[in-house]
Amino acid sequence: MSTLINPTTGLELDASPDSASLEDADAVIARAHDTFPAWRDVAPGERARLLRAFAAVVDEHLEELAQLEVLNAGHTIGNARWEAGNVRDCLNYYSAAPERLFGRQIPVAGGTDVTFHEPLGVVGIIVPWNFPMPIAAWGFAPALAAGNTVVLKPAELTPLTAIRIAELALEAGLPEGVLNVIPGKGSVVGERFVTHPLVRKVCFTGSTTVGKQIMAGCADQVKRVTLELGGKSANIVFADTDVAAAAASAPYAVFDNAGQDCCARSRILVQRSAYDEFVGRLETAVKTLRVLDPADERSEMGPLVSAGQRDSVQAYLDGATVAFTGSAPDGPGWWLPPTVVESTDTSEPVWREEVFGPVVAVMAFDDEDEAVALANDTEYGLSGSIFTADVGRALRVARRVEAGNLSVNSHSSVRYWTPFGGYKQSGLGRELGPDAPHAFTEEKNVFIAH
Ligand code: NAD
Repeated sequence: MSTLINPTTGLELDASPDSASLEDADAVIARAHDTFPAWRDVAPGERARLLRAFAAVVDEHLEELAQLEVLNAGHTIGNARWEAGNVRDCLNYYSAAPERLFGRQIPVAGGTDVTFHEPLGVVGIIVPWNFPMPIAAWGFAPALAAGNTVVLKPAELTPLTAIRIAELALEAGLPEGVLNVIPGKGSVVGERFVTHPLVRKVCFTGSTTVGKQIMAGCADQVKRVTLELGGKSANIVFADTDVAAAAASAPYAVFDNAGQDCCARSRILVQRSAYDEFVGRLETAVKTLRVLDPADERSEMGPLVSAGQRDSVQAYLDGATVAFTGSAPDGPGWWLPPTVVESTDTSEPVWREEVFGPVVAVMAFDDEDEAVALANDTEYGLSGSIFTADVGRALRVARRVEAGNLSVNSHSSVRYWTPFGGYKQSGLGRELGPDAPHAFTEEKNVFIAH
């Protein structure tokens, strides 16, 4: 595997795991397949106990996992602790699933009809670099709970926490072969999850371009697939809201994780009568955002993950009207200041494309219809926010915005116990929430003649 770099310092990390070859990937997939029958047949209560034990071991190593993510991905220590805690919480939540994976009994003539949720077999999970721990857990926790074995490929840039989590699974008592982490290239290991007939489902999170290739590849075997892809989400601010509160919270909705968040509200739509006040207050909020060494407890934003990502984000600023920026440390590391662009033309790349960095574009609108039309004028549909004091308007707009995860007067979008996923080219299927284990099963119908 290419050398890992600490995004904060630009220096090489000591740990650089080997990149798996095609043969390595095949061997691990075979092992996961061999392990499947025994894992499927573990009694529900015992599988639940093992997942709770896994959660407890993750909790005991929370600080270690968080520090590893600060080093490898440049996440702020506050965020990284939340992310490791999210792995624990997903495991605890889905540890309740094995005993609750009910089928139904459906009335029929001449017999009894029952349904079962059978696990699929080996599930392949492909993880991006932006949230290495949570995105891994959103796949493996419900997949394991439903009785599947898992092969998981972390992103090339950020494999360290996933490798450690697989070790912790063994420490907690999960049998060898149940949760397998295979660091390697997307074009080798990830692609093999798509083409290998023993991998029965692929859960992919990443770019829309690669997601489309994966969906097309899975079609060849009619392989189950869940896609969580890009976003260009809108934060819609109506003039009747508390403009000060909306402006104070807006930076956190887009600059969290240095904007490398598929749910980033990277377009802010502000009703024209409140526009000047909002932008003025936003400037104060952006200028006071604490962009610091991510290991510093006070840090609210760290560096970008790589030099390449910083260059790609920077390119969006060429020709854009930058209204103001916040601060960023000088010196080494892949830093960019949080940047606010004023847009008047919806064809500008910074308005249309997923920048995946600390850049937000602001635009004025006149009325509710225009706000909804602008919000929906994108190929994406992942998340969004609506700020208004009018509950009727909040619900009307929330129903009309074509996105899977909306929040009113807040920017929250991901809770492990509520469903998460995208409309349009933001994805296919849903993760998290009470139904996630079903996405890792086949529903089987059995009729018994009396
Ligand atoms: P990416 O699509 O290049 O890579 C994502 C993962 O897919 C990596 O593990 C990579 O190795 C693997 N991969 C690459 N090519 C592959 C192939 N041909 N076959 C199989 N696997 C392959 O994306 P990235 O640059 O790592 O992540 C950033 C992108 O991910 C952004 O566009 C962002 O919007 C998106 N993303 C979406 C969500 C979501 O939940 N919707 C979450 C995080 C990131």
